[in-house]
Amino acid sequence: MRNDLAPGPARLEEVIVETPTIKTFVLRPAEPLPFRAGQFVQLYLPGVGEAPFTPSSSPSEPERLEVTVLAAGRVTAALHELEPGAVIGVRGPFGRGYPLAKLAGHEVVVVGGGVGLAPLRSLLYTLFERPGLARRVSIKYGAREPHELCFQRQYASWAAQEAVDFTPTIDRPAAGWPGRVGLVTTLLDGLDVDVSEAYAVCCGPEIMLRFVARKLVDVGFRPERVYLSMNRNMTCGMGICGRCNVGSLYLCKDGPDLSYAEVRDIPYALG
Ligand SMILES: Cc1cc2nc3c(=O)[nH]c(=O)nc-3n(C[C@H](O)[C@H](O)[C@H](O)COP(=O)(O)OP(=O)(O)OC[C@H]3O[C@@H](n4cnc5c(N)ncnc54)[C@H](O)[C@@H]3O)c2cc1C
Repeated sequence: MRNDLAPGPARLEEVIVETPTIKTFVLRPAEPLPFRAGQFVQLYLPGVGEAPFTPSSSPSEPERLEVTVLAAGRVTAALHELEPGAVIGVRGPFGRGYPLAKLAGHEVVVVGGGVGLAPLRSLLYTLFERPGLARRVSIKYGAREPHELCFQRQYASWAAQEAVDFTPTIDRPAAGWPGRVGLVTTLLDGLDVDVSEAYAVCCGPEIMLRFVARKLVDVGFRPERVYLSMNRNMTCGMGICGRCNVGSLYLCKDGPDLSYAEVRDIPYALG
């Protein structure tokens, strides 16, 4: 029987350097770990601690999990030191995952900031593997500088998918950057989608989520169709410890992806 509190072993097969501060860890759990896009796992490093991450790989490969991690503190710095062959602990999956049933048949705008594109990549794989699930996928992604854009090697193949467009932007002008400059919110003006019917799924720093959500509503999205990854610090993953609760919601159990309609009136839910 599955024990949600006990990490199982996972072997680190490969480490992919994405940016100077972000790495993707390719893990092979001892047992396949089925998950839905948007669900998260807890990675455990013996002697260091545990932290939550949403796999960036396709749910169609439960025997091989990719987790893309920004070095932010104790656990993430220790993860960044690991070499292939290391064995770490993994437990989960937790959370509800992205609202795929709701997205079906609609245009979907995917909005990412920095390492926030990592959880969204699992959603993108799901949508690409099931053409026609979403009527159209429009990806808007922002990072501070060109070298901080994650998964650059994949952009051309994403944009080549049918009914998919991809636009990256960087915060400040940079020598040699031919693309858009400005915060990711600047990509949300003049969207080529039917905003009253479309869904948006957003992941990034809390401050970005706040401004992106407001902007999407300003341009005509319905708040209940704007989903935000509420990736606050969480511990148990099961709605027991209370570390992540906002209002009456446990982000680990009721989320982490919640609609703007659900969170906008909860004090401090968006920072
Ligand atoms: C559901 C979920 C999914 C996540 N998915 C990813 C992912 O795919 N990739 C990724 O890189 N990160 C992800 N994160 C964030 C990741 O869990 C944190 O960066 C990690 O817990 C930091 O642990 P640490 O021990 O390295 O840092 P610590 O030493 O604990 O803290 C370092 C600093 O970061 C702050 N901090 C820690 N966690 C968070 C957080 N969640 N939000 C804001 N500030 C924080 C601390 O307050 C402190 O200032 C996710 C978080 C959640 C809740």
